[in-house]
Formats: sequence, C-alpha cells, structure tokens
Amino acid sequence: MATVEVNISQSRVAVTWGDITGQSTDAIVNAANSSLMGGGGVDGAIHHAGGPAILEECKQIVARQGRLPTGKAVITGGGNLAARFVIHTVGPVWRGGNSGEPELLVSAYRESLRVAADNGLRSVSFPSISTGAFGYPVGDASKVAVNTVASFLREQDSSIKEVVFVLFDSATFEAYASALEEIADG
Ligand code: ADP
Repeated sequence: MATVEVNISQSRVAVTWGDITGQSTDAIVNAANSSLMGGGGVDGAIHHAGGPAILEECKQIVARQGRLPTGKAVITGGGNLAARFVIHTVGPVWRGGNSGEPELLVSAYRESLRVAADNGLRSVSFPSISTGAFGYPVGDASKVAVNTVASFLREQDSSIKEVVFVLFDSATFEAYASALEEIADG
C-alpha cells in the first residue's frame, strides 16, 4: 500500500490508501453528521464495523448535549474496532465556498485533535472529511486538512505522535499526497 509521510515537530504525518475501519491507531475519526445517528459513507462503515455500542454512546451524548454542531467533535469507545476510540466530528456541507466552509473544516480537524490530545491519545487516523456526500472539493479540502494538522502539531506539545490520513479512492489519495509533499518541501 502506498504511503507518503513527513515528520512535523517529532510527530509522524502519513497519507495512505485504504479503509479507515481497519486502522489500529488509538482513535479513528468519523465524518459524522450533526444527528450522530449514523449515515452513509465512512459514517455507515464505522458503525457497521464497530457494532451497536458506538451508536448507543452517540445517543447518550445527543440526549445530554443535543446535536453536534458543525466543526465540533466528541469521543466514544471503539466498540468492535481495532481502534480504542472513535472521534466523531461534523464537517461543513459545501455551499459554494462563501458560507464559512474553510473555517468550519479547519475547526473539524482542530477540535478532533484537541479531543484526542485531551484524552492523552498517541495516534489518530482521519478520513477525508466533507469530500464525499458533503461535496467539499477534494483539492481544497486536502490542503486544509494537511495544513491544519501540521499547524496543530507545530503549535502544541501534545500526546499526539502520529496522524494518518486514510483515503478511500485514488483521486483523494493523490490530492492528500500532493498536499503533504508541499508541506515537506516548504
Ligand atoms: P462527508 O459526509 O463528510 O462528505 P463521506 O463519508 O460521504 O463524508 O465521505 C468522506 C470520505 O470518506 C470520501 O472520500 C469517501 O470516499 C470516504 N470513505 C467512505 N468510506 C470509507 C472508509 N471505509 N474508509 C475511509 N474512507 C472512506
């Protein structure tokens, strides 16, 4: 499997091709929607692979604090997954780019990393948030994703030592690999 990686502030950032449900990082991130009730795409795949315990915890979170706003993140156990935790975040729906989409996508990545760091996690895998059903152009989204992770790792001395982007198709993989190579050069 092709992997591209760089080191940033003593952490490893990698881009790889595959199914995020099989990752054995401490947490995998779910590109959820505000209901936290599951759905299609990566959200459906994570709930399917992880089993009902994840949805049960999501229901309790919504009962306690309501729907999860776009750009925020919460953590649950990983159920039957190899990952011990799932961090659920909600990326923006693409509405043309002038509705705060870039800021909300930055926030989805930052909040997910903050939740991981607050829980002392060492490694986190991300899917390509918002670029499936939510329609965010993957070229732009990949730059936001990679740059936001890099800034977080440079700014904060946290528990996070490894971040892996797990991409599901070749076009998405190529976009993230280019974005990461740009960072490595710069
Ligand atoms: P969003 O609603 O945030 O756009 P989607 O799940 O529709 O989320 O798509 C986000 C990305 O996740 C897309 O690139 C999609 O191909 C990818 N994806 C779907 N299933 C998986 C999976 N099992 N592992 C990793 N990525 C996946």
